Amino acid sequence: MQTLWSFRRGIDITQVDKHLFLLTLHNAKDVQRILKREPWPFDKRLILLKQVSGVEQFGMVPITKCGFWIKLYDVPICLRTNDSLTTLASKIGTFVSFDGKGMVGHGSFVKILVLPCMTKLLHKPTVSKVGDSPVYTFPITYDNLSIFCYACGCLGHGFKECPDFTDSDSDNNDAQFPYGP
Ligand SMILES: [Zn+2]
Repeated sequence: MQTLWSFRRGIDITQVDKHLFLLTLHNAKDVQRILKREPWPFDKRLILLKQVSGVEQFGMVPITKCGFWIKLYDVPICLRTNDSLTTLASKIGTFVSFDGKGMVGHGSFVKILVLPCMTKLLHKPTVSKVGDSPVYTFPITYDNLSIFCYACGCLGHGFKECPDFTDSDSDNNDAQFPYGP
């Protein structure tokens, strides 16, 4: 992991548990940089980060969320407002910010930073209704998603290792994955 982050003031990494590490950064700007640039894939897995104040017991720190830049496609112009996009983002996770492109976004999509809960399934292409608007379906893509299962929607394994994916599914080349591309 040390190779993942290189900061002028350095970073100390201490293993706390099998899958739990304490990162000590010596500069506040480095802390914000590392948090703003989530997600951090490593060795086909995802590193979940949580800033602590120092009063917590390690076992009690909830590390369940990770920042993802999400592209929402084909959002009507009337829904490309701060309020509407915040409402849409809240259907996926905790809204954090936009990418500053305003109402126009990137033309075919708008990009928002959200914190989906990693203990739940990632959101499928979504059907959303905002206020009095009609019901829309918005395809979603996640930037820098780590290994991900198209069959069950969970992070951490591919569909061939998935308990929900059967041999008969693999014989069917036209298999439609509920969470697939
Ligand atoms: Zn699976």
